[in-house]
Amino acid sequence: MEEIYLDANATTPVLPQARQAAMAVMGDAFGNPSSIHGSGLKARALMEQVRDRARRLLGAAGGQLCFTSGATEGIQTAVLSALTELRRRRDAGETQQPLLLLYGATEHKAVPEALRHWNDLLGLHWPVRAIPVDHQGRHDLAWLRQQAPQAGLVCTMAANNETGVVSDLDGIRAALAGSTALWLVDSVQALGKLPLHLAERRIDYAPFSGHKLYAPKGIGMLYVREGAPFTPLMTGGGQEGALRAGTENIAGIAALGEVLQALEAGDTFANQETLWAHRERLALALTDAFPGLVFNALPSLCLPTTLNFAVPGLASRLLLDLFDAAGLRVSGGSACSAAKAQPSYVLEAMGLPAWQSSAAVRLSFGAADSSELIERACARIRACGDSLRAHGLAAHATAGNTTPTGLVTRFVADGACCYLVADATRRHCVLIDALPAHTEQITQWQRRHHHTLVAVLATTHRTEHAASVAALSAAFPESMQALGPADPLGWPQGARQIELGHHRITRLAPPGGSANAAAYVLHTTDQGQLAFVGAGAMADAGSLHWLTQALAPQALLLPGHDDAQHFAWTLGQPSRLKALHAEPEALTLSRDRLHLQFSTSPAPLLVDVREPYEHALGGRPDLGQGVHPNNVQSVPLGSLLNALPAWLKLEAGTPVLFYCRSGNRSAQAARALRRLGHANAWSLEGGLALWAAQATPATLAR
Ligand code: PLP
Repeated sequence: MEEIYLDANATTPVLPQARQAAMAVMGDAFGNPSSIHGSGLKARALMEQVRDRARRLLGAAGGQLCFTSGATEGIQTAVLSALTELRRRRDAGETQQPLLLLYGATEHKAVPEALRHWNDLLGLHWPVRAIPVDHQGRHDLAWLRQQAPQAGLVCTMAANNETGVVSDLDGIRAALAGSTALWLVDSVQALGKLPLHLAERRIDYAPFSGHKLYAPKGIGMLYVREGAPFTPLMTGGGQEGALRAGTENIAGIAALGEVLQALEAGDTFANQETLWAHRERLALALTDAFPGLVFNALPSLCLPTTLNFAVPGLASRLLLDLFDAAGLRVSGGSACSAAKAQPSYVLEAMGLPAWQSSAAVRLSFGAADSSELIERACARIRACGDSLRAHGLAAHATAGNTTPTGLVTRFVADGACCYLVADATRRHCVLIDALPAHTEQITQWQRRHHHTLVAVLATTHRTEHAASVAALSAAFPESMQALGPADPLGWPQGARQIELGHHRITRLAPPGGSANAAAYVLHTTDQGQLAFVGAGAMADAGSLHWLTQALAPQALLLPGHDDAQHFAWTLGQPSRLKALHAEPEALTLSRDRLHLQFSTSPAPLLVDVREPYEHALGGRPDLGQGVHPNNVQSVPLGSLLNALPAWLKLEAGTPVLFYCRSGNRSAQAARALRRLGHANAWSLEGGLALWAAQATPATLAR
């Protein structure tokens, strides 16, 4: 499947002509620009040619323009230069009181981190303050005007990397009028997209990064206004007019030169009109695919190339997995923090509702992307929406969709686990430990499966229980009709057990007969006992004792809270503490080791833990000849509990290999199975993302 890369704000590919230029420099024109022989002179000439081109493009005839390794280095150099000068002014008695170091609240982390770092290291310890932004992500200019007289350094990016919001640089300039503050404008996302007029605006420092605009990583530029203070970050051989020591990255400079040449010639990158047309098409495809979608910034204030959005009820992780399965590479929040599922600080600073800042997805295309590519991307986006609808995971799900459901489904919100036990024959279900935070996930499940809810049970008495029942009643009143009178924990009055088809649920009261807590046991015909023990029993060893009396040793205990993704444990496990804290070794199997691991009998079992809507888009991977279809299972993580009992009955030597997109979900599954006693459980290293990158799939067969 063609990979469609829509994450240009994180980085871009290198233009073919830029690659060629870099190769030529590395091969033939490899001279050191500091050498005075012919090879060196050629290298220097090339470097100066690129510098001149950059000056023309940036509107920076005067001042200094030096090559750096990227924007982070440029930011450090600018902050160090400014703070060193401010310290000099303080020491000379030119300033009497501590100066404010100001940065936009939506600035890239490199800026506030550099401010704090050099502020401490230079012993200034001055206040570092965020300039508030409004709902649209634009700086609060009235606030800035008020603070400007006390400010020593002001940092305001030209365009935001997450939202694409363009700053009002002229407004900022006006707010700083009369202030002696130095001004740093992080221009990374503006290069090639906005006219910067650096000299005209009297910007003191402007860092740039090559890899955001089709040059390689490891090359950047820093502009320093004529007369602005400068302190080198690196000293040594005096390169770059002693502004930045170290032999220049001449291959990177040559490549950057080609990009700047393409910008000047206007023959490679789309013009503004085309970029806006591309944006329109993508925005339309997104709103078609995901009705209810909201854009997190006003298009009229944004770069055309960045679309930041959220879809109610769909977590950003889900959307990222979905897009990735369709071969669309987008990112959630900012790329630097993509590994952590944290709300975006940029959207939080804009005051967007919590759901919007944690469900945000960023799609950013490049100025070199063709209209055909954008068209193909739109088709894939629409296919993503279709897949979600077909699997009932959208407000507009296909009516009557009947994807099969497992006996137990687990929903997790902030570590709190809610379980839904479903009887597919009579279409009845029971919920255990539902909190208001789970309502959306339950509602989506219900839209897909249309079951009647016969009980909503809680393992401990808490007010959220009633709130959750109320929220569910409002969400699907017709499914709640079988709920009769119940005790405070939701247990139906007078009932000895709850029957769910061939299965039944009983209640276990803790010692002392407290009415405020209970465990529930699901007695299944084929999977033994599953006990819902809530959060208390996990934490309190005394509670375990009474469970020992009531449950079979191999019964699976399902916790009410599971931050560490253990899924389940058994009373028969040798040491509960060990099971909770020990990290299993060597959990992943690389491609090279698959063959070794699977060359023995019995045959391996392969388990795909991705969601069905992901398979529908990406198809099933070719995991090699010799893997019998009977030995491949599809068990999404939320249904893992249904499969665990059967896997635990496998012969000890049976390798079980879990796989998913990135290796994250499969590692959770493999760890859970190992903890429960099946040591031969593995996760495919790097997930299918790396698999697809390899030329020939390894044979997993014996
Ligand atoms: N500033 C902004 C706005 C960015 O988007 C980035 C990269 O994401 C940086 C600074 C850091 O750039 P570099 O990777 O060149 O150090």
